[in-house]
Amino acid sequence: MKLTDSDQDLVAEVEELSGENLYACFQCGKCSASCPFTDEMDELPNQLIRRVQIGDRRILQSKTPWVCASCLSCEVECPKGNDIPAIMEAVREITLRSNVDETDLRDLDTRGLPEIALVSNFRKKTG
Ligand code: SF4
Ligand code: SF4
Repeated sequence: MKLTDSDQDLVAEVEELSGENLYACFQCGKCSASCPFTDEMDELPNQLIRRVQIGDRRILQSKTPWVCASCLSCEVECPKGNDIPAIMEAVREITLRSNVDETDLRDLDTRGLPEIALVSNFRKKTG
């Protein structure tokens, strides 16, 4: 399957943010078998990785990265030593960045807010 530029952008973004080689994953499924939170996920961890491998941006709507608790069970079981929580974190960051709404603060009277509120909103919105 040939990846488009947009597909390849997603692969490159996730690899850069996570520091992982996505194509090291060969879909054995051990990560998903060891994950204690799959009941709450709409994509199993190995399915999420597969979608990222093919550059499927619909993954940015998935609940799975937000359910992941970074418990590391999957990483311990992965025969390739993939840092799956880092991949989940990268997908979360890309999702947040793609949803940045610059009007959030522009329309708000921020004079009475503590600085920390502004800093945390900025972090949340920019990943
Ligand atoms: S355990 Fe590792 S190699 Fe197997 S599917 Fe999960 S990430 Fe891929
Ligand atoms: S780190 Fe995330 S994906 Fe991996 S086992 Fe824990 S909850 Fe599941």
